[in-house]
Amino acid sequence: AAVAAGTTGVTPRPVMDRLPKYAAGRPPAPVEGLTSYKLSSNENPLGPLPAVAEAIARESAVNRYPDAVSTRLRTALARFLDVPADDIVTGGGSLGALNQILAAFAGQQDDGTPDEVVYAWRSFEAYPISVGLAGARSVQVPVLADGRHDLDAMAAAVTERTKVVLLCTPNNPTGPALRRAETERFIQSVPGSVLIVVDEAYQEFVRDPEAVDGIELYRKYPNVAVLRTFSKAHGLAGLRVGYSISHPEVTQYLRVAAVPFAVSSIAEAAAVASLEHFGDVVGRVQTLVDERERVTAALRELGWDVPDAQGNFVWLALGEATPEFSQQAAAQALSVRAFGTEGVRVSIGESEANSRFIELCRAFTKVPQ
Ligand code: PMP
Repeated sequence: AAVAAGTTGVTPRPVMDRLPKYAAGRPPAPVEGLTSYKLSSNENPLGPLPAVAEAIARESAVNRYPDAVSTRLRTALARFLDVPADDIVTGGGSLGALNQILAAFAGQQDDGTPDEVVYAWRSFEAYPISVGLAGARSVQVPVLADGRHDLDAMAAAVTERTKVVLLCTPNNPTGPALRRAETERFIQSVPGSVLIVVDEAYQEFVRDPEAVDGIELYRKYPNVAVLRTFSKAHGLAGLRVGYSISHPEVTQYLRVAAVPFAVSSIAEAAAVASLEHFGDVVGRVQTLVDERERVTAALRELGWDVPDAQGNFVWLALGEATPEFSQQAAAQALSVRAFGTEGVRVSIGESEANSRFIELCRAFTKVPQ
């Protein structure tokens, strides 16, 4: 029999009642006569490259723990990115890597005062949860009408309590990438004791020639940490492997904060194989970028105001029409990600899925302006 609620006396940390649950993108419900497409989690629609599938199949010693510090992967990444292997720390997805950073650098002072973590909002849904779990306080700075970070307002929001700033480029879910010049101005305007985390989960999809490159920032500024992942361009979301790149003053603590063995031997082998076949990854990414450009051009042709899309998704600021749009998408066997009455994020998927999405927008009469 179930134990009645409230009978154990166990109580969570107070923050637990204030944090939202992460609402993962759901698969679409089947619709008679239509192939279903999941466009709600910014996944790569293509399955693993043959060489990656082979590397996964070869990894049989799963009775053993994996290499706790992902030596093969860090060595391959160090060569690939031209950075020291010691500056790379892997994690269970880039979210795992972000949680290491927050656990190590943002929490509360000994007197209980929470540290502050500044980031744009709306941005990646996991940020408020990870910040709250670390014990720190979120300071959310609204994005501009075009979906860009308001870096002046973010700089103004930095106080002596700010320990970390999260920059999401391209910004999930609104789409634009940060520009090099504005980002450098921002970094130079905040104290060097603030850790600037540049979340580049969608870096490989960026085509804006003015977009910032997190690795360049890391080379230039000792207080910059970069997050990257194998979930998006490499299409390995199900294996959970990501990493940060930062300087030894930071990495020494990330290694303490890391969940031991978070990157499995299978995930590591797959990531190494994917790097070895990066040319194929680039080709696949370009197909998705071409599809993204086709979708945004079609929507703009319809008179829709679509912000600059630099990731593998587009943002529709539909306001009150948000729930209605996602219902109509569901009726077409497409699952999209609706955010309250703010808007809908739609991942770029298979060509047929994207075409069906465009037709849905053509039939939808409430146009985001
Ligand atoms: N950062 C951003 C901006 C994201 O959108 C995501 C995934 N949705 C992540 C980080 C985390 O991805 P993963 O943990 O799979 O690397």
